[in-house]
Parts: sequence; C-alpha cells; structure tokens
Amino acid sequence: MTSLHDLMNRTPGLPCRLDPDAWFSDFTLDRRYAARQCGACPLLLACRLYALESGQRWGVWGGVDMTAVPTYCGTERGYRMHVRDGEAACEPCTDAHAALVEKRRREQLAQEHAAGGSVRGYEVHRRLGEPACAACLAAVREQSAQSRRARAQRGRGRARSASSGSGSAVVLPSPQTGAHALPVAS
Ligand code: SF4
Ligand SMILES: [Zn+2]
Ligand SMILES: [Zn+2]
Repeated sequence: MTSLHDLMNRTPGLPCRLDPDAWFSDFTLDRRYAARQCGACPLLLACRLYALESGQRWGVWGGVDMTAVPTYCGTERGYRMHVRDGEAACEPCTDAHAALVEKRRREQLAQEHAAGGSVRGYEVHRRLGEPACAACLAAVREQSAQSRRARAQRGRGRARSASSGSGSAVVLPSPQTGAHALPVAS
C-alpha cells in the first residue's frame, strides 16, 4: 500500500511543502492559515486519515489542526468542547459521550434493581433501547393497578355524594365572635 509519505513525494506543489513553517507553528493563527491552504490539496483526505489513524497530536494535517482539537477528542471533555464551540462533535467524541451516557444509565439501573425494580428502572430500560426486566415491568403494572384503584375510588366517592340528597354541601354556621359573653368586671 502506498504511504502518505510516498504520495507526498510524488505530488508536486503541495501547500505544506511550499511554506512548511505555518503547519507546525506555535501560533494558532498560523495553523489556521495552514488549515485553509490544505483545502486546495489533492491529498487532503488521505492526509487527514493518516493523522487520525496514527494519532498525530501536533501540527496541521489534511486541513485539521491536530494541535488544537484532538487532545481531548475521544473523551467526554472533547465532546463538551465541541458542544461549547457550537459544532457537531467528531465521531470519537460522540462515541465517548454515548458510552458515558450508557454507563450512567446502567449504574442507575443497578440501583433501581437493587431496590427490587421500579417505574424509573422501566424508563431507563426504555432509554437504553432494551426490553424491561420482569421486576421493572411488575413495578409499572403495580403502578397502573394503583391508579385504576384510585380512579375507581374517586368514582365511588362521587356516586355516594350524588345519592345523598340534593348533593349540595352542608354549610356549618361559623362562630360569631360578637356573641361571646364578655367577662364582667367585679
Ligand atoms: S492536506 Fe496534508 S499533504 Fe496536503 S497540504 Fe495539507 S498537510 Fe500537506
Ligand atoms: Zn472530538
Ligand atoms: Zn429492570
């Protein structure tokens, strides 16, 4: 298989060969300039792929400033940096974030199971895209049965009050404060 090095040697006029300093400059603005120059390079994709696969951590490769971005790529921190910058997260960061979310859900699920299964556990199963376990399913069924019983009880209560006469509430007279006997001075 042809290496990137061979490809570069065979391709005349590569931007990074004409003005190499900017590609590995300490200054972000220089590297941004270099990344823009890569846009005209026929090896852009091969170069980027090589840098990602070989884990380059410095300089501009295939239009990507590996110095600035990938330090945290593939981690939750990297994912948050993408979000903070208002850009779509790269694949390694998306995977890292998804793995963390799943890990947290599994931890929560373990707690719900330790407590014997729950409605919340059922929801977590659902978010994990898996069928609920028997214990969580039983908790959901029990909750539904409880709601049905409560509804039925409310219905019976309404029926009882409707059948006890006019149905209007009995208003008890409130005590008249002025009616209290005042203590007589001796
Ligand atoms: S894409 Fe790679 S080979 Fe092409 S100019 Fe940029 S750094 Fe050089
Ligand atoms: Zn990333
Ligand atoms: Zn469960």
